[in-house]
Amino acid sequence: MRKVSIFGATGSIGQNTIDLIARNPSAYDVVALTGGANIAQLAHDARRLKADVAVTAYDDRLDDLRTALEGTEVQAAAGQEALIEAAKRPADWVMSAIVGSAGLAPGIAALEQGATLALANKETLVCAGPLVLETARKHGARLLPVDSEHSAVFQALVGEDMGAVERIIITASGGAFRDWPLADLANATVEQASSHPNWDMGQRITIDSASMFNKALEVIETKEFFGIHPDKIEVLVHPESIVHALVGFRDGAVLGHLGAPDMRHAIGYALHWPDRLDLPVPRLNLAALGQLRFVAPDEARYPALRLAREVMARGGLSGAVFNAAKERALDHFIARRAGFLDMADMVASVLDRFDTSDGLIDAALTLDNVLQTDHLARKWVDEAVLERAG
Ligand code: NDP
Repeated sequence: MRKVSIFGATGSIGQNTIDLIARNPSAYDVVALTGGANIAQLAHDARRLKADVAVTAYDDRLDDLRTALEGTEVQAAAGQEALIEAAKRPADWVMSAIVGSAGLAPGIAALEQGATLALANKETLVCAGPLVLETARKHGARLLPVDSEHSAVFQALVGEDMGAVERIIITASGGAFRDWPLADLANATVEQASSHPNWDMGQRITIDSASMFNKALEVIETKEFFGIHPDKIEVLVHPESIVHALVGFRDGAVLGHLGAPDMRHAIGYALHWPDRLDLPVPRLNLAALGQLRFVAPDEARYPALRLAREVMARGGLSGAVFNAAKERALDHFIARRAGFLDMADMVASVLDRFDTSDGLIDAALTLDNVLQTDHLARKWVDEAVLERAG
């Protein structure tokens, strides 16, 4: 039986992972399931999958979790230390599906114990790519991509030589506001930004799709995961979300990966890799679809893409700054303290502040420095919001 753990088990990726595992329970020994506020879901899944331990990220929810797990042998735990402890428990395969930079430290702990880390949490590579890759190398651990675009690239590269890759093209649906007039974006509401045309995902990544901050993170993730120069990474708006990524080779050939927009494909590929097993995903009917469209992204509409290129040029801790500023700006948008377009403005001003802060640009990429920088960038966003309000 394979020992598996799922971090972020109560979220959209976590639930899709559980869906696959629960179809074949005798194949898996579930070590740890973790969640945040959704105690009922966490306890329900920990019970039915007979997990060794269930962890909520929030200390003050421990009693609720204990109560929900009464009468079972599942251990209940809470808080950041407990998350790390759960990640250190030996497992063959660990799903990293916490949302945000909170996924970084548990992911590193899982790599340190040599697990295969299925990486949905793109923030891990955005904040600390070189550190994470070095940790995996040092401990003989493996990283597998779960983001659909990166899974698609990974699959297109099987048997290929990275030296022959000319470019990687990742696609983007364009999000909820793809067809909106630019002038209306400033007034876009949280509800409008939370509805995705093709994918059914968590609220935060759905809003990040509308702003293309999600694609911006994915461009950085592509650079880190595949070790490719930023100039060789392209983004293409593809409204149907059927072609997830394309790889162009030196002989002019382009290999693409197509599939219905269902995350269980990328999750299942990472779960069964290097094999391909049956997956309960819809099959493509290209004749019924009729056409696939591709359009170059308009950077005036999506300033996040330009910011991602600036971050890749800066390197070091700038990925951590970018991600934390983006996360905090998103908090303020969701809380209606900032408008939709304010998010990119705030992130840009935090990156400028980072450039002029003594010592930060050259600081080493350690976990401590990433976490401190993350904290600082959030504080800077809060200050910017207060300044605007005052
Ligand atoms: P969700 O918001 O649906 O789920 C997030 C999970 O993280 C939940 O289990 C949540 O717990 C938990 N969580 C939230 N805050 C914290 C915290 N501070 N500490 C620990 N755990 C926390 O997110 P998604 O599943 O949509 O996304 C997860 C990750 O996967 C993200 O990095 C996203 O970018 C990436 N991804 C998602 C895709 C998708 O289709 N959804 C596609 C590709 C990548 P609770 O809900 O109990 O509070």
